[in-house]
Amino acid sequence: QMHNRIQELRGNIRVFVRTRPFLPGDQQTSDSSIEVSPDGESLSIADKRNGSPHDFRFDKVFPPSAGQDQVFSEVSDFVQSALDGYNVCLFSYGQTGSGKTHTMQGSGNGAMRGIIPRAVEQILDQARTSRAQNWEFKMSASFLEIYNEELKDLLSSMKQKVSNQSNNAKLAIKRSKEGRSFVDGLTEVAIETEDSDAGMRQLEALMAVAARARSVASTKMNAQSSRSHSVFMLHLRGYNKDNGAIMEGTLNLCDLAGSERLDRSGAATDAKRLRETQAINKSLSCLGDVFTALSQRSSHIPYRNSKLTYLLQDCLSGDGKAMMFVNLSPTRLSSGESLCSLRFATRVN
Ligand code: ADP
Ligand code: MG
Repeated sequence: QMHNRIQELRGNIRVFVRTRPFLPGDQQTSDSSIEVSPDGESLSIADKRNGSPHDFRFDKVFPPSAGQDQVFSEVSDFVQSALDGYNVCLFSYGQTGSGKTHTMQGSGNGAMRGIIPRAVEQILDQARTSRAQNWEFKMSASFLEIYNEELKDLLSSMKQKVSNQSNNAKLAIKRSKEGRSFVDGLTEVAIETEDSDAGMRQLEALMAVAARARSVASTKMNAQSSRSHSVFMLHLRGYNKDNGAIMEGTLNLCDLAGSERLDRSGAATDAKRLRETQAINKSLSCLGDVFTALSQRSSHIPYRNSKLTYLLQDCLSGDGKAMMFVNLSPTRLSSGESLCSLRFATRVN
């Protein structure tokens, strides 16, 4: 009985595909390798070698013209479920330059804002309306990076210094008594929920801190941020002043490392790059293995095989919710990588 219930709750992981428009830096400026169907549920991609089409169906396929607001309107229910007490995770997957960070973070504070600021804004709005029903919401954010299977706290400079705690201490993923994954010692920055404008300013400030920490870290290691995964976490806690009910949920927004195969660029001849590539490939293939095991209702889900899947285990299992964006470049030069990304995504649902 219990087993059946879990299966029902688990459901399939939804997959959205987003093709970015052509950009001035692309080698071509038109003639896309990808065609999105008018109903927005399937796409056709031309094979680089012989031009023959490969067809795919997903929960939603966004054409290059889809703006940030249109994309967000399709994920706002998902964001809402974190407020309803679920552990939810949204991934962006794709080769470097395909629009993962644009989708997750976006840029500026206007129309180009991505999912992170829009999600926080929606939660702040919701927190305000819930106050009328005597719900009080608290929200805090963490931001971490996973590089070569090591975790780095991107907000550690915002933490109140505790004398016996180093900022550079290696972070470890642990399991709580309740059986939840958490990162021991990870900084949580409170975000004001009483005043939405103040809350949004706090978010902007912490995003800037994280961006700086990320670029410092990548310079030190001579690495690119495209080689690491970043996970933005929102911890939500609601308390009902009438009946004492408590609601806890988390929203994880995960911008994955570039999925491109690096062997053809000669990167494999460099020992450091090789290690990096193997670490990325390992965690992305572990993620794929977890998705496959989930979709096959396997009794063993290999969460422990990578930091990423171990960290996000609660979202990927039981009553958690996960969803994936596959980001694609429209160019013919990228069609091989695009095809790989789409094939990866077919393992998901
Ligand atoms: P990734 O994170 O996958 O490496 P980015 O999100 O950095 O890729 O996108 C690469 C470039 O393309 C950036 O300059 C970004 O602003 C731009 N871009 C990506 N998607 C879109 C889009 N849908 N509309 C306009 N520009 C986009
Ligand atoms: Mg990026």
